[in-house]
Amino acid sequence: MPTETFEFQVEARQLLQLMIHSVYSNKDVFLRELVSNASDALDKLRLAALRDDTLDADVSDLHIELEIDRDARTLTVRDNGIGMSYDEVGQLIGTIANSGTAEFLRELKEAQDAAGAEGLIGQFGVGFYSGFMVADEVTLLTRRAGERQGTRWSSRGEGTYTLEAVDDAPQGTSVTLHLKPADPDNQLHDYTSVWKIKEIVKRYSDFITWPVRLVGETNGAGENGEDGEAAGPETLNSMKALWARSREEVSEEEYHELYKHIGHDWREPLETIQLQAEGTFEYQALLFVPSHAPHDLFNQNFRHGLQLYVKRVFIMDDCEALLPSYLRFVKGVVDAQDLSLNVSREILQQDRHIRMMQRRLTKKVLASVKSMMTGDAERYATFWREFGAVLKEGLVTDPDHRDAVLAVASFASTHGDDGTVTLKQYVERMPEGQDDIYYLTGESRESVDSSPHMEAFRERGIEVLLLTDPVDEVWTDAVGEYEGKRLRSVAKGEIDLTAREDDRSEDEREKQAEAYAGLLGWMGERLGEDVKEVRLSTRLTKSPACLVADADDLTPALENMYRAMGQ
Ligand code: ADP
Ligand code: MG
Repeated sequence: MPTETFEFQVEARQLLQLMIHSVYSNKDVFLRELVSNASDALDKLRLAALRDDTLDADVSDLHIELEIDRDARTLTVRDNGIGMSYDEVGQLIGTIANSGTAEFLRELKEAQDAAGAEGLIGQFGVGFYSGFMVADEVTLLTRRAGERQGTRWSSRGEGTYTLEAVDDAPQGTSVTLHLKPADPDNQLHDYTSVWKIKEIVKRYSDFITWPVRLVGETNGAGENGEDGEAAGPETLNSMKALWARSREEVSEEEYHELYKHIGHDWREPLETIQLQAEGTFEYQALLFVPSHAPHDLFNQNFRHGLQLYVKRVFIMDDCEALLPSYLRFVKGVVDAQDLSLNVSREILQQDRHIRMMQRRLTKKVLASVKSMMTGDAERYATFWREFGAVLKEGLVTDPDHRDAVLAVASFASTHGDDGTVTLKQYVERMPEGQDDIYYLTGESRESVDSSPHMEAFRERGIEVLLLTDPVDEVWTDAVGEYEGKRLRSVAKGEIDLTAREDDRSEDEREKQAEAYAGLLGWMGERLGEDVKEVRLSTRLTKSPACLVADADDLTPALENMYRAMGQ
């Protein structure tokens, strides 16, 4: 097959331009991205070989190699992992499948200055393309395990790439960076320096569970501390599974690098949670709460963030059996000692031990949110802003942990100092004579603020929770009460606020009712089928009238939701 030239997809081209003219000062991370991809490829191959013993692949010495060629000014990252087929190279490398990247590019266009752009680049993983921060040409040679034919991909990052079928490619993938000319003023960015490469691997990729070896030019003439000895390839990383080590032994930075690798995130996590369970069913868990909600968190097919290992062997990504759906934003690793390497998703869903593990992990995550709440208000506020809406799903779907979720939940309120309040605080400051917890649901803060239902409550200084997430409609009904206090929507049913007033006697109200009987009757007739009843209300102070649902009716938003679902 001849060499074919292809155009990058538009987004891919934009991203490449960005990498080439990168304003991002921390260029070292390109190596982390390539090593991370190589590590993923080795995980995939081991798993594929495990699942399919007819797979014609060599899994005897899975590893990553880094090769420096100082004369040619190239750096090669090589793995003998799963590799890619010809079509896969075009799909995976020529396009940007990750929709988060499109969002990133949009935000980047809006960033006003270089500092803003740098901040954004730092927040998004750009994976393979980050090689173009340091190279003016990248070539990739790959062969998919089990296939005979290999593929060479090459690009200068300028709009096109070439693909070529090759006959003699080794299994796996090698990515060769043709490094940009050396900057004599900036030795720090000399990626042909053995010292530099060792330092980057140690800093960003130490925990990678496969050996990262330095081959080729390791004698480093003129390098600091290099003695020119030609020994066998040197392994640069310690390969220690961080989750199996005690917390004192591991630095915060090491945890964060692991998070970035498994979470495909360039930002620091908000919280690191470690759990080591001993006993008959032994496992270790290292979980992370990200600092930002992913944009697709509410998509139907959002992928859970937990990886399952069995005795240090990677088994699967997106392991949804380990945590309930409302904690799907949690990333991390769970390593179980007593599962079969062949365990499938179906088996996991039914396994008694896994269910126990799920409960324990759920408790642990909720406990760590609780301790954020009591110990670090600012971090908790970030957490709740990013993940509160997801967590509240648990109030509906997980009755066993309902109280624990409720305990860490907070809500916008008409009375909060900083605007939010917990149910506990609400109840504590409820004045004498108030028996219920009042709330109003709506689509936005503006719509609830301006709702006529609020008037009487505002006038009388009664605290109302302002709930604007779609799930609020559902959990308030499902939960119903908190510590014996009913949760009541101010938009539903008859709410008698007169008990709290002295100025309007029973007598007076009866008189009023008589005086308006005619008008109400007439209105009832005119509105006919559209309303159930027209009545005098104490809930309004300025607006002449409002629509009220029966106490056990669906709220308008829920009605719309069910209608949309075709019910
Ligand atoms: P991500 O790793 O977040 O998916 P990347 O841009 O780093 O994004 O890589 C894109 C895709 O290219 C990967 O998901 C993988 O399928 C493929 N890929 C990249 N490097 C390798 C490799 N060394 N071996 C096999 N596949 C790879
Ligand atoms: Mg990657």
